[in-house]
Amino acid sequence: MAVAQVIPIKNIFEEFRKLVHDAVDEWVENFRDFFERGELPSITEISDRFHKTRPEFFGQCIESILSSLASDFSRQEYADCPECGRYVRSKRIDKRKVSTVSGDFVLSRPYFYCTDCGSGFHPMDEQLEIVQELHQLDIQEKIAKLAADLPYDRAVEHFTELTGIEVSSHFGHKTLNAIGEEATADVVIPDKTEISRRIEALSDSTERPVMVLAVDGAHMPTRPEGGRAEKRGSGQYKEAKGLRLYLMGNDDRIVHIASWHQIKDVSEFEEEIALIASRIPLDKVKMCLLGDGASWIWNLYKKYFPEGTEILDYYHCSEHVFETAFCQYGETLDAREWAESVLTRLGLDMAGSVIAGLKRMKPANEDAEKSILKLITYLGNHKHRFDYDELKKEGCPIGSGGIESSNKFICHTRIKRSGAWWLKDNCNAMLRVRCAIYNGTFDRVLENYKASKFNRLK
Ligand SMILES: [Zn+2]
Repeated sequence: MAVAQVIPIKNIFEEFRKLVHDAVDEWVENFRDFFERGELPSITEISDRFHKTRPEFFGQCIESILSSLASDFSRQEYADCPECGRYVRSKRIDKRKVSTVSGDFVLSRPYFYCTDCGSGFHPMDEQLEIVQELHQLDIQEKIAKLAADLPYDRAVEHFTELTGIEVSSHFGHKTLNAIGEEATADVVIPDKTEISRRIEALSDSTERPVMVLAVDGAHMPTRPEGGRAEKRGSGQYKEAKGLRLYLMGNDDRIVHIASWHQIKDVSEFEEEIALIASRIPLDKVKMCLLGDGASWIWNLYKKYFPEGTEILDYYHCSEHVFETAFCQYGETLDAREWAESVLTRLGLDMAGSVIAGLKRMKPANEDAEKSILKLITYLGNHKHRFDYDELKKEGCPIGSGGIESSNKFICHTRIKRSGAWWLKDNCNAMLRVRCAIYNGTFDRVLENYKASKFNRLK
């Protein structure tokens, strides 16, 4: 920001010093009773008093720094209309309250009105990056981060307790949703440069690191629009489709790159898979694709990662095998032994012989027959996807723990709180913000949010 050139900086600073001294003189009055009561206050009492009076004192300090530093802006008489460019004269001085994490203050600044295009504006607000809402961007950022972890009521309660600034839970809600608007997949998913950087940090010269893309669904409690007053139970669970992209680090540790979870249909979700595919330098990694039985997942993999290694989640596969075992042999030791031997042979890439064996089996009953046929189809559909022993040797994961933990830490811990039913849009906004925080891209989301407030180009 430009500083007035007519008054030497030193003088402005001295003016600021004097104003702050005046504010301190006023502030110390808050502590007079400690000196009058004749007994020593506890350290908690003293700290509490400082904490409670801090926002007002710092608010005054902010007012002081602005009145010294930005005096030429507050006296500005002419300005260019931001809409049509016409040179217009100031109409009046407007006052407004501004709230920051440090404190509240009153800002006086000139108002301009352009009669040509009918737009009114305060140039000083733009200079100081003051937003229309009472609570400024520093508060909005902190509230959004807290609300991404805690229910809104709790988030604002903690915020107020820690800062002394009163904020409503409605404001928390509105802010998170507005920031969520800027948290698009394009911003939330790290860009190609960042993904390459994380790959290089892990690569040694001999082998390409294993990169895993895992896709899965999680069921989110949603409610219809306008249903807040209705009785519980009118809500329904909707599937949030989720993906997680990660690298296999040393000792099979997951090196997180990106999570992305949204309640949407396959065609919309496909756009995000395409985006991810465009950002991975596929020549620098060994690409593994993990999924359960859902065919939409494999269709997307085939389309965007035709060269990747497809892996059927071992646990999903074993559930199917055990189901058939129990149908055929009851819940017996025989059933377990049979299932283990099937899984062992699948792990040795012997799907063909397992299927042949199943075809020869004599079903114990009608249920077993159905189950055996189902398993034959299932194994046939996925027969190139469970070469588990070889995959393990190559350092590829065989279980979908990576995406399941993402479902848990992105979705379940915040969305599935008891009694919570979400509007789909609000749920998606929350998921996007949480993904941004975990992906390390929240700062970029905030930059775009700020730009959107001042109509700047992103
Ligand atoms: Zn104009």
